[in-house]
Amino acid sequence: MGAKILVSACLMGHAVRYDGKAKPLVHPALDRWREQGRLVTICPEMSAGMPVPRLPAEIEAAKTGAAVLSGAARVLESDGGDVTAQFRQAADNALALALETGCGYALLIDGSPSCGSTSIYDGSFSGRRHPGEGVTAALLRANGIKVFSHGEIDALAALAGFSEI
Ligand code: SF4
Repeated sequence: MGAKILVSACLMGHAVRYDGKAKPLVHPALDRWREQGRLVTICPEMSAGMPVPRLPAEIEAAKTGAAVLSGAARVLESDGGDVTAQFRQAADNALALALETGCGYALLIDGSPSCGSTSIYDGSFSGRRHPGEGVTAALLRANGIKVFSHGEIDALAALAGFSEI
């Protein structure tokens, strides 16, 4: 199991979200991991060529990332545009980077149709969440990477350790 941690770029303060903002996470474990060179940062959606800002997107019909990966659900933008292919590419890019760099763990922002790992929006664009994971989180998990949401950083710290490389 690789000791590196794949991390959502918006958590690291990069202004890459659909609304052009970041959502930085401040936590001593992140500082330590950065010093140890254990963090591998990616915005899966930007890696697939999506612009900033971009329209909000949700997985349709209260389905989840696994359904997108199996072809049973689409990812739609708020105007109805189909961005499924970009979201699948985003997940492929994140997995390739994780494998290439030896990431056994991922710390991803929750709620996103890519990075969400405990809850995502339900496809109605009404602000309702339901339990489930985004496309990137689902693909990482399917390949054995232990995925944690930003709210679970303490659990990741307990597992991945503060001091070992
Ligand atoms: S794809 Fe992930 S890293 Fe990129 S903006 Fe969305 S939540 Fe952040």
